[in-house]
Amino acid sequence: MTRIIKVAVPGPFRTALDYLPPQTEAAADVATATGSRVSVPLGRRRLVGVIVGAEDHSSLDGHRLRPVHAVLDSAPILDADILELAHWAAEYYHHPLGEVLARCLPPRHRKPDAGAPRTPRIWQLTAAGQSAEPATFARKPAQARALELLRATTAPQRDEDLRAAGISPEILRKLEQAGLVAAVDAMAASALEPHTSAALPPVLNAHQAAAADAIAADMDRFGVSLLDGITGSGKTEVYLHAMSAAMAAGRQVLLLVPEIGLTPQAEQRLHHRFGMAVATLHSGMSDLLRLRAWERARRGDARILIGTRSAIFTPLPDLGLIVVDEEHDESFKQQDGLRYSARDLALVRARNRGIPVVLGSATPSLETLHNAGAGRYRHLRLPERAGGATRPTMALIDLRRHPAPEGFAAPLQTAMRETLAAGNQVLVFLNRRGFAPVLRCSDCGWMADCHRCDARMTVHSRPAGLRCHHCGARRSLPPECPHCGAPEPMPIGQGTQRSEHVLGRHFPGTEVIRIDRDSTSSPPALQAALDRIGRGDPSILVGTQMLAKGHHFPAVTLVAVLDADSGLFSADFRSSERLAQQILQVAGRAGREERPGQVLIQTHEPNHPLWEPLLRQDYGAFAAAALDERRQTGLPPFSHLALLRAEAPDRGTVWQFLERSATCLDGDQPEVAVLGPVAALRERLAGRYRAQLLLQSPTRSPLHALLRQRLAEVEALPEARRVRWSLDVDPIDLY
Ligand code: ADP
Ligand code: ZN
Ligand code: ZN
Repeated sequence: MTRIIKVAVPGPFRTALDYLPPQTEAAADVATATGSRVSVPLGRRRLVGVIVGAEDHSSLDGHRLRPVHAVLDSAPILDADILELAHWAAEYYHHPLGEVLARCLPPRHRKPDAGAPRTPRIWQLTAAGQSAEPATFARKPAQARALELLRATTAPQRDEDLRAAGISPEILRKLEQAGLVAAVDAMAASALEPHTSAALPPVLNAHQAAAADAIAADMDRFGVSLLDGITGSGKTEVYLHAMSAAMAAGRQVLLLVPEIGLTPQAEQRLHHRFGMAVATLHSGMSDLLRLRAWERARRGDARILIGTRSAIFTPLPDLGLIVVDEEHDESFKQQDGLRYSARDLALVRARNRGIPVVLGSATPSLETLHNAGAGRYRHLRLPERAGGATRPTMALIDLRRHPAPEGFAAPLQTAMRETLAAGNQVLVFLNRRGFAPVLRCSDCGWMADCHRCDARMTVHSRPAGLRCHHCGARRSLPPECPHCGAPEPMPIGQGTQRSEHVLGRHFPGTEVIRIDRDSTSSPPALQAALDRIGRGDPSILVGTQMLAKGHHFPAVTLVAVLDADSGLFSADFRSSERLAQQILQVAGRAGREERPGQVLIQTHEPNHPLWEPLLRQDYGAFAAAALDERRQTGLPPFSHLALLRAEAPDRGTVWQFLERSATCLDGDQPEVAVLGPVAALRERLAGRYRAQLLLQSPTRSPLHALLRQRLAEVEALPEARRVRWSLDVDPIDLY
């Protein structure tokens, strides 16, 4: 007789917890409800857990078991596919199953008593709103701003995004009453997005066709294809063909992308091709919209789900293909809590289900290239740009010969002038936001440090002040040096705000559009900036990473990399891989249509060996050399790593915990090296000291065997309760 319900509850529990069936329901019914949510008592709290099984007897017999409060779903909402994936992830990342399962639920489903969902509203201008005279609103600045924002973007805007941009519901209501804006239903919004043209999809070129055919010919079993195509080679068209093939066979498709909010273009392209069949899921969305998209996917109403890393956990009953775009991107790895890699979980899920997976990139990760080289993945190549565009030319500017006191060497300024005069756009890449990275006293050498981190504070100009980019601390700019009293400490070095300012002076009359997290944090602001760029007028775009990824700017013909050197000499073993990827990705924004592109990179180190393969745009050659180095040094993919991190306000506690952990972990598995403890590169962050223990093993299984055997002991150490600690399997950085 079934008596015991096994419930995975979020919290530090290594196993599922035992409950009695709820008093109101037949035990046998509940026992078959694996994958349903239940609300359960835990101490004095009430939590949402997921039923993972049922048993006749509890190992806790004799204890007073408590009944489940209520079964929350009339039918299981997590299917066998997701439960299997969650079990795998819990095991592999040595993370509590209940925590993993909580990740599999949209936030609204994690709460025991979420009220009836409010309908979100999506706003657009009416015809009257479009032609409204700005002068009429001289006395109503808030309304004027709302109209201006809606006018500056092409897509309708969600009310919460507008609220984030400072436009209150009340203002929208007033505008609605005046007949200037109208709300549309969330579902209908995708149909409203501008269809730039009813253009037919382009005819695939020979390389694209070969890749698409290879993928489409093998849709009924597990297999990994690496789509290794240079930037602008038309990888997306190949995905779309493979996706059409899967959909024609009645299957759903999961498309994982790095940061969807940054590349609305990609999302729009899918909507144009597939219309209402598409659902989107990312963490920038409101809980309600996430719930809706999740439910559409789970019920099979959405046939394509496009999402960021957490979308990997979405139930898709007819899933037949997974595509991971920009598979090298580090945003696929979660950096706290359950530190999973969505790319790796995509492979596991595809293998479990016996379906194909496509990994696409112009700059694949070394792990992926290694697997392709070993014959585990099918290696498909797109070596040419699609549709007649040519590759950009690439050259270095030697900053030792051409000084750049304000960030722009003379040859770069000349090239920029020529580009603008020819009616084209320039993209300036500088991966450092703010005005300047350092504030320094020219008399005594004092520098503004963060009081809580081992880090300098960044100077910001608007709003003016000092900010720590690590812990978020803010201070005002000191009028004089706090150490020697000399007036006006100097900002040293370049950030995007300073570059914007300098460019305004050098190129008066030319529009400078800055894109970074400070200037364009809200989706409407980003969309407005992208729309301005899209008009194609000669202008200069200045920005960070946010500009480098995935965008298609037809008028950009010159890309300038202001400062590449910081990546050349970093302590992290992945830094050269990261730098090569970044340079080639940003270079890929140049000359994507008929007009040929040019890339100029400023460096003090023109003889560094990294440049030679990159200037030839031969990522394969770079990767082969980098893999060789990893082989010689025994680093991934030639070994497997796990990092035990710990932090606390007191340094001694951290070291005690890690030293005792090292004793727990050492010895059982001779193949596994236990290295450390060592202090983190930036030892103090937000007032806490950080250190770590590295586990390294030539093969995977002894590492996991060791963690299975010993992690519980580490967890039970008395010191474990006095530090914040975490385990990171396959860490991407070793800080
Ligand atoms: P990638 O993702 O590889 O960087 P995209 O898929 O964004 O490249 O394609 C780059 C550009 O080339 C896009 O504007 C796309 O519409 C166009 N394109 C892709 N395939 C073709 C083709 N076969 N013929 C003409 N244009 C194409
Ligand atoms: Zn001083
Ligand atoms: Zn700080």
